[in-house]
Amino acid sequence: MAIAKGYAAAAAKAPLAPFTFQRREPNDDDVVIAIRYCGICHSDIHMVDNGWGNSVFPLVPGHEIAGVVTAVGKNVTKFKPGDRVGVGCFVDSCTTCAQRDVDHEQYLPGLVLTYSGFEPGSTTPTYGGYSDSIVVKEGYVLAIPDNLPLDAAAPLLCAGITLYSPLRHWQAGPGKKVAIVGMGGLGHMGVKLAHAMGAEVTVLSQSLAKREDGLRLGASHYHATSDAATFTALAGQFDLIICTVSSAIDWNAYLGLLKLDGTFVVVGAPEQPVPVHAFSLIPHRRTLAGSMIGSIKETQEMLDFCGEHGIVADIETVAMADVNKAYERIAASDVRYRFVIDMATLA
Ligand code: NAP
Ligand code: ZN
Repeated sequence: MAIAKGYAAAAAKAPLAPFTFQRREPNDDDVVIAIRYCGICHSDIHMVDNGWGNSVFPLVPGHEIAGVVTAVGKNVTKFKPGDRVGVGCFVDSCTTCAQRDVDHEQYLPGLVLTYSGFEPGSTTPTYGGYSDSIVVKEGYVLAIPDNLPLDAAAPLLCAGITLYSPLRHWQAGPGKKVAIVGMGGLGHMGVKLAHAMGAEVTVLSQSLAKREDGLRLGASHYHATSDAATFTALAGQFDLIICTVSSAIDWNAYLGLLKLDGTFVVVGAPEQPVPVHAFSLIPHRRTLAGSMIGSIKETQEMLDFCGEHGIVADIETVAMADVNKAYERIAASDVRYRFVIDMATLA
């Protein structure tokens, strides 16, 4: 067993503090990774708060992992020491299916989350990327394109794929009007990706404070949802709306912005239920849908797409010891647009 250093929450809502734990000895199909950077996703905050009720403590968050391979098991063929790699939200998936469902594995039972899950067949919790190393099965390790810097590529492993997957599934592209609700970590990736796919992108943000950035990242339009006139001016306009908001908001108001057969996709995961009125959906045959990250296959496709288009996150690098301050700033929507922990600061 190798000793790893990291930061953990000891209990729900506890501040993150230094934590030492053991990583498993690599099996023949494992890749050992020295973590260089880890993005801070708003899900990490929900999980530390136990806001969804499924957290396992002590909890080492982090599922936007970028690092370098230091060793591989003898059956590993895709990676070698020195390779630049990423790990996202899960590190194993259904082992009972005869064949791994490479297109939908994130939706099947048996998914092992990168943190706050359990090592397969054991009661040992999985510990995430706010740490100096991780051991992951080869099939759950992603190759990061050479032209993308590791720090700004780290958020692609969750924020990137969480927007890429629904944009592809609902066919964002030329001729499609796409709105992104919330200009945070996920939202700003949605603007970049939808623009690169050729869609006409609108940002719906609480205020116009980040308008210049939204337009720079690829949006054609930017509106404040604090202004009631936005909802009348844009009624019936969009083919696809992707909502990244982390708190409960009135989805009924946003559903009114969809065209005939338009789809509102929930990716932001508020801790409270959101009531939806039948007549927000019935007229114009609207669809209310959800989407969760993406498969490993689709995540690699997304990373390659980002490599081709030169897309990474806009980041602010923070020291590990400042992670609790970063959480406060995210809760206050004060991040442009993703915090990334520099693991070299993990003393
Ligand atoms: P984030 O960086 O904090 O961004 C959320 C954005 O939502 C904020 O920047 C803000 O945008 C908007 N917002 C926040 N509070 C609001 C409120 N009360 N009313 C209206 N708008 C508000 O968070 P993130 O990392 O992008 O994550 C967003 C959500 O997605 C979280 O709930 C997270 O758990 C979830 N998530 C889901 C998946 C999935 O697979 N479905 C994957 C990753 C994360 P403006 O300032 O522009 O208004
Ligand atoms: Zn995430």
